[in-house]
Amino acid sequence: MFRKLLLLLMVALLTACQTVNTTSSGRVGVNRAQYMFSGLSEKQVQTSAATAYQQEITKANQQGMLNQDKKLYARVKLIADRLISHTVTFRSDASSWAWEVNVQSNDQLNAYCMPGGKIMVYSGIIQKLTLSDDELAAVMGHEIAHALREHGRERMSEQMAEKVIVGVGAMALGLSEESTSLVGMVTNVTFGLPHSRTHETEADLMGLELMARAGYNPNAAANVWRKMGRVSKNNPPEFLSTHPSSSSRIRDLNLNVPKVMPLYQAAKKY
Ligand SMILES: [Zn+2]
Repeated sequence: MFRKLLLLLMVALLTACQTVNTTSSGRVGVNRAQYMFSGLSEKQVQTSAATAYQQEITKANQQGMLNQDKKLYARVKLIADRLISHTVTFRSDASSWAWEVNVQSNDQLNAYCMPGGKIMVYSGIIQKLTLSDDELAAVMGHEIAHALREHGRERMSEQMAEKVIVGVGAMALGLSEESTSLVGMVTNVTFGLPHSRTHETEADLMGLELMARAGYNPNAAANVWRKMGRVSKNNPPEFLSTHPSSSSRIRDLNLNVPKVMPLYQAAKKY
């Protein structure tokens, strides 16, 4: 009986999921088959993310915390734009995404890029870590990579697959009408749930290539995690709760720098 049930569940899951690879692998060789819930399209996730992002913008704006420091905003925007112009290396459709960049006055150490290119950088991460332009490019490159790889949709897919397992029958829910809960899920994967180690590694590697192509020194990426480690001794920042670090991270970043160094050197010439 149990076996039969298990088989049924497996069939349900296989029917409910599709395999995709959201990006080209680039010089850093990110190449992994991803499982997405069939009922959850990229468009649905992007629409929900746009709503979730707008909610954050509105909240920050009402509190007078949005893009208050014009100089800081201009600095973040310039770096973001340079990174965004190279996202087509990994997926051509990224050039048609409705990218947005904002800076929130917030002492917490945090930054994110919601699905579809909705970037937010907290002033706290720049100021408390005294980030250089190269280091800031590493943070944003990492976040942009999460969005390019659609890690948000992948994590939402996992949650939905779990629903199938517990028998809620998410397939029958009619997800298009479930837009409110999808917005909640985007918010949850942005602020609440930690990324897996696999997602972190992919974002590190792809972020490294993005920053190099945009003309930022890839050696700076490891600095960010060193600095993060120093400030988090007593009080782990927000960023680390959603982006769990590992001891091998700095080593892996450094090992991959030579792969993207020629791209950085070529970009520096312009
Ligand atoms: Zn991450």
